Amino acid sequence: MSDTDFKPKPGSLLFNNLKDKDTIILAANPRIALVNKGIFQAAKDMDAALIVELARSECDLMGGYSGQKPADFSRMAGEAAREVGFDIWALHADHIGIKKGTPEDIQATKELVSGQIDAGYTSFAIDASHLFNFQGGDLREELADNINATTEIGKHIQQQMAGKEYGLEVEVGEIGREDESGRVLTRPEEAVTFITALNKNGIRPHVLAIANGSAHGNTYDALGNLIEQVSIDIPQTIAVAKALRDNKLDVRIAQHGITGTPRDLIHNHFPRGDIIKGNVATFYQNMVWDLFKVYEPELYSDIWNWTMENYREQAKGKADNEVFGKFSKFAIKQFYDRIYSVGGDTRQAIDALAYAETLIFLKAFNAKGSAQFVRDAMR
Ligand SMILES: [Zn+2]
Repeated sequence: MSDTDFKPKPGSLLFNNLKDKDTIILAANPRIALVNKGIFQAAKDMDAALIVELARSECDLMGGYSGQKPADFSRMAGEAAREVGFDIWALHADHIGIKKGTPEDIQATKELVSGQIDAGYTSFAIDASHLFNFQGGDLREELADNINATTEIGKHIQQQMAGKEYGLEVEVGEIGREDESGRVLTRPEEAVTFITALNKNGIRPHVLAIANGSAHGNTYDALGNLIEQVSIDIPQTIAVAKALRDNKLDVRIAQHGITGTPRDLIHNHFPRGDIIKGNVATFYQNMVWDLFKVYEPELYSDIWNWTMENYREQAKGKADNEVFGKFSKFAIKQFYDRIYSVGGDTRQAIDALAYAETLIFLKAFNAKGSAQFVRDAMR
């Protein structure tokens, strides 16, 4: 294969060819890009289709909190793909968040998307799920702002991609949102109303992110101990996917917020074919921090202290451990140069650990061999 074969493939190619293959596509988050090589090597050795993704908050035209601009993310992921020689992967913009939906907000979002396209992204997740009108008279009205913003950005992507294929994810129901009775879950009729309206507007997403009981990042108990996340509501997820199918809407589910979910639960209980994309993000950051404790104790201690100094106040009453777990992501940009200049033995350990952990995720997702289905479809 030549170097061009290792460029990212359209997300649509992965979604369309794997949606009925009893597998979940791993969408791994290299917020600390040192994990890329191990992730790509595991995908290659399992011959498993792979998505790498960063959210708008992590990676925007100014660098986001990961310190990676779209071109940096694209370059470093591309280098890892070439180095290990892996071809079936997509470069995905996770959570292109639209929080206000004002003209300025939409304009800035379009500029970001254009920058992502220039950097070679092949897949996009528009997230206007925050725009929910609680005073709406019916479902269509409640979702109107989300539908309008998603349509506008969706059209912009269509134009800018100029006939090139790409993957599209959209979101209904804000992930992790809680009200007095706990986490708010996306209802089947909400998903159906949302996708029907988008299709009518000429926007045809491949995957839909829903609120189904997960939250982003780490999960803690009342004492601040890191605990497993077992809150994903699988029957509700199946019900949403079934409602989409029953209404002849060709969209599957993207599962967000997998960090902390036991891999045996994923392996034995996740409804593959309903869920076809699984996002794993904070997990990889936790892995690097744990490793730094031993390999880079001084750097780790500086990151810990910086996080406490800057975020202790706004997380009053929380244990230090929880403050670190929730806010240390903001240290990545702050310590960018030191993180990316760690020594060879640290890199070797990160490669090995990222490799092994990714193998386990790919196994849990039944992803072995999934790349070949995509390759066959490309012939
Ligand atoms: Zn997410």
